[in-house]
Amino acid sequence: MFRVRHNDLAYYQFDNLRYLDGVTHGIFTRRGGVSQAPFDSLNVGSTVGDNPEHVEANRQRIAAIVGVPVENTRTTWQVHSARVIVARRDVPQEYPPEQADGIITADPGVMLMMRFADCVPMIFFDPRKRVVGLAHAGWRGTIAGIGPATVNAMVAEFRCNPQDIIVGIGPSIGPCCYEVGPEVTAQVRETFIDGDNYIFSVNGSGAHLDLWKANQYDIQAVGVRKIEVAGLCTVCHRHEFFSHRAEAGRTGRFGAVVMLNGD
Ligand SMILES: [Zn+2]
Repeated sequence: MFRVRHNDLAYYQFDNLRYLDGVTHGIFTRRGGVSQAPFDSLNVGSTVGDNPEHVEANRQRIAAIVGVPVENTRTTWQVHSARVIVARRDVPQEYPPEQADGIITADPGVMLMMRFADCVPMIFFDPRKRVVGLAHAGWRGTIAGIGPATVNAMVAEFRCNPQDIIVGIGPSIGPCCYEVGPEVTAQVRETFIDGDNYIFSVNGSGAHLDLWKANQYDIQAVGVRKIEVAGLCTVCHRHEFFSHRAEAGRTGRFGAVVMLNGD
């Protein structure tokens, strides 16, 4: 990934999307916002206990960098599902947002945004059909199949060909730090025929789960070929990203956004 600095604010871009016309995207860090500790400082999560005015100011900063009014943001109420919704420019954001963990659009100028602190952000772009998508995958969403569900929704709604879709799998808790219990490993083994490939132990400690690999293979299984994995762990890089696990739940959420350019 490429790190972009904008005064004190920093965000990351995937190499496979950064140079393409027609799409704007970013995985924002925790740097460059107005929130106070433990939400310092670019927190976009409105349900974590932060001052709502600070959250709104942070969201406006992100929209300003993307180059759209904050009202163009479309988001979901993230519930660890495999549900995907379609966002439209002429349908304003509802509050509370609709429950879903994938969101897609073919409308330029609509900024899709979701919130993260260890779960996996995934960005989707079909340059041929001009469709973008965004998904949120923790272990539950990964088992539910939110990655392939987002690809399938792009195919069903907008006739995308999976081979045209470019995917970025962003920073999240990495295999280095994601120790999970037996209830998780049992479900991973039940869901994925090659589930053992995603579970391993580090120095004899408990089982670690590789969400990056699981999501990558799951998306490849529905025909996507162009996938970039950031390989950045939010626990190891907790000064750069919010990490639910590293900060024992008292923390903010960083934003991931994607938008089609043009009118
Ligand atoms: Zn790590």
